[in-house]
Amino acid sequence: MIVTEKAPAKINLALDTPMRYLDGLPRWNMVMSAVDLADYVTVEVHHRPQTIKVYTNSGFLPNDQRNLAYQAAHILKTRFHQTDGVTIRIKKKIPVAAGLGGGSSDAAAVLRALNQAWRLGLSLDELARLSLAIDSDVPFCVYSRTAHVTGHGEIVELLPAFPHYWVVIAKPKLSVSTPVILRQINYEELVHPQTDQLVAAIKEGRFQDSFQYMGNALEAVTIKVHPEIAHLKAQMQKLGADVTQMSGTGPSVFALCHAESRAKRIYNSLRGFCPEVYQVVLL
Ligand code: ATP
Repeated sequence: MIVTEKAPAKINLALDTPMRYLDGLPRWNMVMSAVDLADYVTVEVHHRPQTIKVYTNSGFLPNDQRNLAYQAAHILKTRFHQTDGVTIRIKKKIPVAAGLGGGSSDAAAVLRALNQAWRLGLSLDELARLSLAIDSDVPFCVYSRTAHVTGHGEIVELLPAFPHYWVVIAKPKLSVSTPVILRQINYEELVHPQTDQLVAAIKEGRFQDSFQYMGNALEAVTIKVHPEIAHLKAQMQKLGADVTQMSGTGPSVFALCHAESRAKRIYNSLRGFCPEVYQVVLL
C-alpha cells in the first residue's frame, strides 16, 4: 500500500523558554503555525524486505536512522509489532536546518501515513504522544495547525486558524545549529515575548491586534552570531511588513502581510540578494 502525505513547514509566531528542565532541555512556551511551503512524503509498506529505507531528492540529508522520517517509521513499527518493511520517499521543498521544522514535519507525515497504511486507527493525539521521542517540534507537526505549544513540546493546544495572511520567508545563506544556539542561552538575559497575551488575542479572534505580542526570545541569541538576520528583518520592515521575525533558532526570517501587494514587494526585493525566498500563506 502507498500513502502520500503533505509535510508543511512551521513558523514560530512566538518562541519563548522561561527555564531549563533538570534534564537540560528547554521548557517551551510557543505559538506555532503551519505555512503552505511543504515537503511531500510517500510511504510504501511491503512484506519484503522488512527493513526501513529512506530516499530523498536532497544530497545533504542522511538516509539512515539519523533521518527523522526513519525514526518515525521505526517507532510505529516496533511499538505495534509490524513485520512489514517501509520505503519512504521524501520530496524536499522546505530548506534544511532553516528553523522551519522540515525534518520534524517529515517525521509527522510518516506517522500519519503509516497510521493509514497499517490501519492502526490512532488519533492525532495518540500519534502526537508517541512522537515526542523524535524531536520537540514533531507533536505540533502531527496537527500542523496554529497551536500553543508548551512543556518539552508535547503539550499542544490547538488555536483558531488565522484569516488569510501572506507570509514571505527568506533563508539567508547561513548555517545555524539548533543545539549550539540552545547551549548559548543565558536565561538572565532573555527578552520574553508576550506569549500568553498572544494566545488570548488569537482565541478572541483579535488577529491584527495579536501582532504586537509576537516575538522570538532566541532572536537576540542567534543575531549575536549572525547580525545579517537583523539586517534582513529591517529590510522587510522597511518594505511594509506587518510583522518580521526569525523562525525557530533561525536563520530563516519571515514577514507577515495582510496585503498581497506588500508581500509581493518584499518577495521581489529580497529575491535579488537572498538565495532562498518564498511567498506563501498561513494555513
Ligand atoms: P530544528 O530546529 O528542529 O533543528 P530545523 O527546522 O532548523 O529543525 P530541519 O530541516 O528539521 O531544521 O533539520 C535539522 C537537522 O535534522 C539537520 O541537521 C538534518 O540533517 C536533520 N534531519 C534529519 N532528518 C531530516 C529530514 N527528513 N529533513 C530535514 N532534516 C532532517
